[in-house]
Amino acid sequence: MITTELSNVGEIIQNQREFFQTGKTKDITFRIEQLKTLKQAIIEHGQAIVEALQADLHKPEVETYITEISVVKEIDYVIKHLQNWSKPKKASVSWDFFSYSARIYPEPLGVVLIIGPWNYPFQLIISPLIGAIAAGNCAILKPSEIASHTSDIVAKIIAKHFDPAYIAVVEGGVEASQKLLAEKFDHIFFTGGTAVGKIIMAAAAKHLTPVTLELGGKSPCIVDTDINLEHTVRRITWGKFINAGQTCIAPDYLLVNKKIKKDLIDGLAKSLKEFYGDNPINSPDYARIISQKHFDRLVDFLKDGEVIIGGENQPSERYIAPTVIDNVSLEDPLMQEEIFGPILPIIEYTDIVEAIALINSRPKPLALYLFSQDKNLQKRVLQETSSGGVCINDTVMQVGVSSLPFGGVGDSGIGNYHGKASFDTFSHKKSVLKNSFWLDLKWRYAPYEGKLPLIKKLLG
Ligand code: NAD
Repeated sequence: MITTELSNVGEIIQNQREFFQTGKTKDITFRIEQLKTLKQAIIEHGQAIVEALQADLHKPEVETYITEISVVKEIDYVIKHLQNWSKPKKASVSWDFFSYSARIYPEPLGVVLIIGPWNYPFQLIISPLIGAIAAGNCAILKPSEIASHTSDIVAKIIAKHFDPAYIAVVEGGVEASQKLLAEKFDHIFFTGGTAVGKIIMAAAAKHLTPVTLELGGKSPCIVDTDINLEHTVRRITWGKFINAGQTCIAPDYLLVNKKIKKDLIDGLAKSLKEFYGDNPINSPDYARIISQKHFDRLVDFLKDGEVIIGGENQPSERYIAPTVIDNVSLEDPLMQEEIFGPILPIIEYTDIVEAIALINSRPKPLALYLFSQDKNLQKRVLQETSSGGVCINDTVMQVGVSSLPFGGVGDSGIGNYHGKASFDTFSHKKSVLKNSFWLDLKWRYAPYEGKLPLIKKLLG
């Protein structure tokens, strides 16, 4: 473990401030070089990353490549566009400003803090870092202590390839977070739960530090009758049970048209068998729950409603079978808290109005899924609900599209990132207005006598 003494936190920040002041990070070539270094480092340590995730979450290697190491694709995307994003952009001026020119200069914020969660513990700390580097900042990373093996490998990679006066990792739990939060940063980027998000924002407020909060919530998945059933069940099974359901944008619960409910349940049972076999505990492709505490919380949910698929669990392995639950009450804890595990409640509706009303009666979710080919229904759900993002006829895939800003709304978060949105999140847009000396109209200068009629005319 690379330990950073918590007492050194102030010194690390001071060193980063001094490094930032040298102006080196403002050089686009420097930023591109650092992004290339990061990409190379990730590739070089691919096996160690796979092993860390295997140790933390029993994450299958394929899932580690698809959902963690795949951040290298984001690096390529950013490198390709960085020159263009970082150029000052011309802004238009109205005719009465005819002697002026206006431009918007993106400039780095300074020293930023990135705090990560345990569920995609590599990707969710590195992906914001890509934005921070691209925009020309120095960064301190605080990975989740709960995914301790991944935290260690992140610390090793960063310490080996980057000067701590530029990018540093501080490992540890709540104490480390709080120590960091007591300091002044130029931006705090946090991924985690809504409750902790409030603590982060309160701490940031003391220094007037802007925040990005990537939070969670209960993401609904509506299933209409106008679907390809086989594709639908596979896409739901994958999005819900990848990483054993510990995905912030996993479908939290299904809202199913009554007419198709039985077919959907049969289809889910079939696709689960296809994915993980008769006994998923023996499948090499199925992850485990991160900790005993999280396991116990999830097992408690199994008391709600009626288990119709799965339900088996093995405490010694922190294994919970992919589970589908019917007949839940909206008051059950299962329908009150974010599930964040391999348990899928099903709620039926007879009219889409009921599904929309249920979604709108709850905090705005991070993701909303709709399975339907009916264009009018698609339009209606888009118009009548609000969520961080929407994915139609699939699940989770929206997170992989770099051109789509990713983030929540309301209780599911503040701000967004990925691709250009990451660059913007970690940049200040400096407005610059330039006048020239070839003319100096006197209408705005004192003495004002006799000028009012002209000014009134100009204002229309
Ligand atoms: P968490 O909020 O418990 O922890 C996140 C980070 O905050 C960790 O690094 C932790 O050390 C730190 N932390 C915990 N308590 C703290 C405190 N009191 N003060 C300061 N820092 C503290 O979240 P988690 O359990 O790691 O992750 C699960 C949650 O994150 C879920 O709600 C999930 O939906 C959400 N999440 C959101 C996204 C997204 O992109 N929006 C992605 C992944 C996870």
